[in-house]
Amino acid sequence: MDYASTTPVDSRVFKSMMPYFSEKFGNTMSPHLWGMEAREALERAREVIAAFIGANPMELIFTSSATESNNLAIKGIAFANKEKGRHIITSKIEHLSVIEPCRWLEHSGFEVTYLPVNKYGLVDPDDVERAIRKDTILVSIMHANNEIATIEPIREIGQICKGHGIYFHVDAAQSLGKLPVNVNEMLVDLLTVSAHKIYGPKGIGGLYVRDGVRLEPLLHGGGHEYGLRSSTVNIPGAVGFAKACEIAKESMREEAERLRKLCRKLIEGMLEVDGVHLTGHPERRLPTIASFWLEFIDGETLIIELNERGIAASTGSACSSGKIEPSHVLLAIGLNERQAKSGLRLSIGRWTKENEIEYVIECVKEIAGKYRRR
Ligand SMILES: *Cc1c(COP(=O)(O)O)cnc(C)c1O
Repeated sequence: MDYASTTPVDSRVFKSMMPYFSEKFGNTMSPHLWGMEAREALERAREVIAAFIGANPMELIFTSSATESNNLAIKGIAFANKEKGRHIITSKIEHLSVIEPCRWLEHSGFEVTYLPVNKYGLVDPDDVERAIRKDTILVSIMHANNEIATIEPIREIGQICKGHGIYFHVDAAQSLGKLPVNVNEMLVDLLTVSAHKIYGPKGIGGLYVRDGVRLEPLLHGGGHEYGLRSSTVNIPGAVGFAKACEIAKESMREEAERLRKLCRKLIEGMLEVDGVHLTGHPERRLPTIASFWLEFIDGETLIIELNERGIAASTGSACSSGKIEPSHVLLAIGLNERQAKSGLRLSIGRWTKENEIEYVIECVKEIAGKYRRR
């Protein structure tokens, strides 16, 4: 029940990667046969992933993760455009890998507007429009939220950014492979993706950078990835990421339909329990995440209780330095501190079975009974 944190590598993905650890281990920068083989594999992978998001291969660069892609997009645009302006717009419910680079930039002479969201976690495109100033250089809004599953009105926001000539970045780490992601339909200039959320390996991510958009690199060195990300490229990772996209492309529709039904069943079952409340939008949500806050128990205790029953779940709240912090996402949708510490995220995926959904609901009912009596 924790596929939104990470997923197992699909055996087909694993198999596709194997040769690139051993016999085809070359460095893409080498002029010899082994280097050529690595270059070919890398460019093939780039083509597959780029096609999956509607981009040209030249517009996709490999990174180590969605966290790195978000950092590169935000700091890269900020540093390349600081003479034009120093104002950035984002939302209060972004992943920390967007919020933290923004906070860091605030210490280096940039100003950031963190837009509020409504009780369902939706950003209002009119709020984006109103927040735009003469010195705004970038808007960064996620496609779908990783805690409460809400899908944001990306195209509408893209339209506004386009009208004002402002760069638009979208974190699609959680939506790729579950919803259609197309950089042209979404009107984005930069888009973040990651392999390990879609049955690919950890340690490889991607950043789409629209042709003509200039970024300041974070890593300087040998000039890999069109000069935007020096580092010997993770070829097995790139090959595995591409295979994961290929599988997603052919199975996404069916899989999303199956998961949507399971997720609905999970949400309905959970809402039968007294004191369980849905978080996020009732319909406009990812087919893979059921999210709640609970009246009778804090998130941390619940996770332990579920773990004892063999269930992996997540609170959604960041656990920094061992102390339970209320989730910034749950606070942003209007919950109080106590409620925001009682979040529960159940996320499903490729190998989730119906009887597992029933078991989870049964366990939560039992735990609810136990804690309500206290
Ligand atoms: C998981 C996730 C990230 C971070 O991805 P990594 O590849 O683990 O760095 C960023 N944004 C969202 C929305 C995510 O779900």
